[in-house]
Amino acid sequence: MVRAIGIDLGTTYTVVAVMEGDQPLIVPNAEGQRLTPSVVAFTEEVLVGETARQQAVANPGGTIFSIKRRMGSPYKVKQGEREYNPQKVSALILEKVKRDTEDYLGEKVERAVITVPAYFSDGQRQATKEAGIMAGLDVMRIINEPTAAALAYGLNEEDERTILVWDLGGGTFDVSILQIEKGIFQVRAVSGDSWLGGDDYDRRLMEYLADQHRETYGMDLSKDMKAWQRLREAAEKGKITLSDSMSTSIQMPFVDGNTSPHTSTTLTREEFQRLTRDLLERMIPPTRQALADADLEPQDIHRAILVGGATRMPAVSQLARQLFGKEPYQNLNPDEVVAMGAAIQAGMLLGLIERTILLDVLPLSLGVETQGGLFTRIIHRNTPLPASEGRLFTTAADNQGAVDIHVLQGEAALAVDNLSLGLFQLQDIPPLPRGAPRIQVAFDVDVDGIVHVSATDLLTENSIDVKVLSAKGLPAELASLTGASTQFTPTAGGREHSTSLLSPLPLQQ
Ligand code: AMP
Repeated sequence: MVRAIGIDLGTTYTVVAVMEGDQPLIVPNAEGQRLTPSVVAFTEEVLVGETARQQAVANPGGTIFSIKRRMGSPYKVKQGEREYNPQKVSALILEKVKRDTEDYLGEKVERAVITVPAYFSDGQRQATKEAGIMAGLDVMRIINEPTAAALAYGLNEEDERTILVWDLGGGTFDVSILQIEKGIFQVRAVSGDSWLGGDDYDRRLMEYLADQHRETYGMDLSKDMKAWQRLREAAEKGKITLSDSMSTSIQMPFVDGNTSPHTSTTLTREEFQRLTRDLLERMIPPTRQALADADLEPQDIHRAILVGGATRMPAVSQLARQLFGKEPYQNLNPDEVVAMGAAIQAGMLLGLIERTILLDVLPLSLGVETQGGLFTRIIHRNTPLPASEGRLFTTAADNQGAVDIHVLQGEAALAVDNLSLGLFQLQDIPPLPRGAPRIQVAFDVDVDGIVHVSATDLLTENSIDVKVLSAKGLPAELASLTGASTQFTPTAGGREHSTSLLSPLPLQQ
C-alpha cells in the first residue's frame, strides 16, 4: 500500500500522522511520545527530540531550540568545524521522525505533506521544502497549518460553513478564514504575527521571575545560561499549570546551579494574565485584518477553531468568546490536529480520499521595486493558488540597456519595508528613448506558494526566468533536483537605490 505521512514541523514540537483507513492517526516516536520536541543538540553525536531537550541545561550552547523561527534566514549554527543552516537543522528533526515512523509502521515512508504557518513567506516555504528533501522525503505539498486544522475538523462537513482558525503555537500566530462548501475548502483570507506565541509568554514570566530573584538576592540570572535555561523550564511549567489551575507555585531549586538559595514564587492565573495582557491583545489586529480582507463581520463566523498548544490558555478561548460571541471549537487535541489535517491532505493527494478539494491562497502580496523605491504589486494577497499574473513596465532613462527586477513580498508602499525575495537583471535591451521598451514581468505561484518570476522584453522577446530561492539559495545538489536555473542574490532592506529600476506603465483595462 502507498503511504504518505502528514508532518506538523512545529516551533516547539513536531508531530506525525498517517491515514489508517479513512482516519488520521498520530504516530508515536521511538520514545513512545506523540510529540517530538523540535530540539537538536550537538554533542559527540547529534541528538534530536526529547534526548536533546533533556541535556539542554548542561549544554546550552550546543542545543538548538525553535529553529523554525529562523527558516528562510541566512542564520547559521556553528558546531566545531561544521556549519548548519536552518534547513539542515530542520532536516535532522525530519530525519528522526521519518525513521521513527518507518520503525513504527514497519515500512518505508517517502512521501509527505509538511505544514507551515499561513503567514510564512515564499523563502520560508522553500526552506521548509528543502529541509524535507534533505531528510530524504518527497515533499508532495506544503500546506498552511490552519488549513490543515480545518481539514481535520471539517472532513465530514456537508453544510456551507465559514470557519476562522486561530493558531497560536510556540512561536507564531496565524489567523485563517476558510469557506467550506460541499467538501470544497476555500481559504478566504490569512493574516498573523510571525513573532507571537507561547514562547513570548514564557519569556515574560522568566523576566518577571528573574526580576523577583534580583530584588530578593541581588543576582542577575540572565547572565548565566544554565540558570536561564532552568528558568525557562520553570516558567513554561508554571504557564501550563495555570491553564488548569487558578494558582501555582513555581519552584526554582538552586536556579543558578550552585550558590543561590531555593526560590519559590506563587503566581495566580489573574496575575499571569495581567503580566501578559498585551500579548493576548496582539491577537486582535491580525484577526480584524483577516475579517476585513474576507469582507466579513465577526458574527459571520460559524466556527472558531483553536489550534496550537498555546490556545489552551483560558484567556485565549475567553477572547474568542468575546470576539465571535460563540464557544470556540477545541475538542480535537490542539497539538495534534495540524498533523492530522496534513495526513488527510496526503491521503487526498494519493487519491485515498476523494470528496475534498483544497484551495489555498497567497499569504502576502508579490511585486517588484519600481522607480523611487516604490513597491508595485503584481499579485495581491489572498489570491487563490495557483496564481499567474503579469504587468507591463518600461525604462526610466534613455538608452537604458538593462533593468533590475527586484522581487518583493509584503504589503508596504515602500520597497525597503517589504521582504526582499531576490534581485535579477534583464539585459540587452536595445537603445531606445525612456518609456519606449515594453517589459512584461510575470509571476507564477504554485500550489505550495513557491514563486517563479519571468521578465520579457516584448520587442526582442529576450527573456529571463527565475525560480525564487530561499535567502541563501540551494546547495548545488538540490538545485538540480528542483530544476532551479538562476540564483537570486538576496538583498537586505535599505539597499542602495539602483538607477536601472523598472517604471510602471499604466494598467491596461
Ligand atoms: P505548538 O507550537 O502548537 O506545539 O505550541 C507550543 C506552545 O504551546 C508552547 O509555548 C507550549 O508551552 C504551549 N502550551 C502547550 N500546552 C499548554 C497549556 N496546557 N497551556 C498553555 N500553553 C501550553
